[in-house]
Amino acid sequence: MAEENLHDSPATALDLHSCTHGQLLALMEELGQPAFRAKQIEDWVWSKGVGDPAQMTNLSKALRDALSERVGAAGASELARQVSEDGSRKYLLGFSDGAAVECVGMPSPRKLSVCVSTQAGCAMGCAFCATGRAGLVRSLTAGEIYEQVMHVRNDFNSRVTSVVFMGQGEPFANYDETLKALRKLNDPDALGIGARHLTVSTCGLIPQILKFANEPEQFTLAVSLHSTIQKTRNVLMPGVRRFSLVHLYAALGEYVNKTGRRPTYEYALIGGVNDTEEEIDSLCDFCRGTLCHVNIIQLNEVSGSPFKPSTPEKAQQFVERLARVGVEATIRNSRGADIDAACGQLRQRVR
Ligand code: SF4
Repeated sequence: MAEENLHDSPATALDLHSCTHGQLLALMEELGQPAFRAKQIEDWVWSKGVGDPAQMTNLSKALRDALSERVGAAGASELARQVSEDGSRKYLLGFSDGAAVECVGMPSPRKLSVCVSTQAGCAMGCAFCATGRAGLVRSLTAGEIYEQVMHVRNDFNSRVTSVVFMGQGEPFANYDETLKALRKLNDPDALGIGARHLTVSTCGLIPQILKFANEPEQFTLAVSLHSTIQKTRNVLMPGVRRFSLVHLYAALGEYVNKTGRRPTYEYALIGGVNDTEEEIDSLCDFCRGTLCHVNIIQLNEVSGSPFKPSTPEKAQQFVERLARVGVEATIRNSRGADIDAACGQLRQRVR
C-alpha cells in the first residue's frame, strides 16, 4: 500500500516529472491498476522522454484517458534554437510559467555532451557573465533540468554520454533539485549516464562543496576559480565574496581527502585582469601539491562587457607554468562561441 498522498484535491494534476514512485503507485491503486503500470509510465517519462499519456502506447486506451485527466508533465517547449558551425546546438526552452532557460548539445564522434541550466537566470552576478547581469528568475525542478537533457537527446537522436551543469544558474544554490536530477540521469532505469560523466560546476559555495563530498555517487566537481587573488576574485565573482579563497582551499582539500577524486578548476582568461604574472604565480601556489586539473578557457566576449579575452600565448604560458609545478592543465576550446552558447554567454534571448 503506497503511503504517500497523491494530492490535496482531485483537481490537482500530478506532475510526472516531479512525483515520487510512491505517488505514482498510489495513483495506480486508485485507478485499479497493477503496480507494474507505474514502472511502465516511468519508463516513458525517464527513458523515452515522453510525458504525454496519450503517447504511452503500451497502456490501455482507458488508462491513457484516465491518466490524461490526472497527470501533467511540466513539459518544456522549444522557443528558439541556433546551430553552431562546430555542430553544437543551443536551445531556448520555455516552461509553463514563462521561465525560460538555455541548454546546449555538443556532439563529437560517438559522443554527445549536454550543458544544462539549473536556474532561470542567476543571482551570483559574475562580472563577465551574460546570465549574471539579468539576475535570478527562479530555480528549476529536477524534472525541468532532466527535460533539457531529453530535449537534446531527442533532437540529436543520439545517446547522451555526458552532462555538465554549467549553463545558467549556480547549481549549488539549487542543491536538492540538482542532486535529484544527477541521480535521475545516473539511474540505470532512466538515462544511465555514469556518475563520473556528470559534472557540476560551482562558483565555490563552501557548505555545498562539503555536502557534495559526502554524497555516495562519484559525480565530478568543477569549481570556477577565475582568480586566486582575493581582490581580483571579489571583482569578478561578487556572489562568492563571503567565501574566502583561504576557506575554499581548505574545503577543496577536505573534498579531495574525503572522495579521493580530482576536482577541475575553471579559469577563464581575461586580458589584463587575471592573466598577469602575479595571477599566474598565485594560481601555481594555489594548485601546487594538490589533486586538481585546471581548464584554461579563453573568455568569450559578451557584447557590452568591458572584459576582453586574453591571448593564446598567455593561455599556453599558464599551461607551461602550471606543468612546472606538477599541475595538469588543458586549454579548453569553448564550443558554440559563434551562437553565444559558450560559457558565460547563455542568456535568455529569443533570436
Ligand atoms: S558564471 Fe555561472 S554562477 Fe556566475 S553569474 Fe554566470 S551563470 Fe551565474
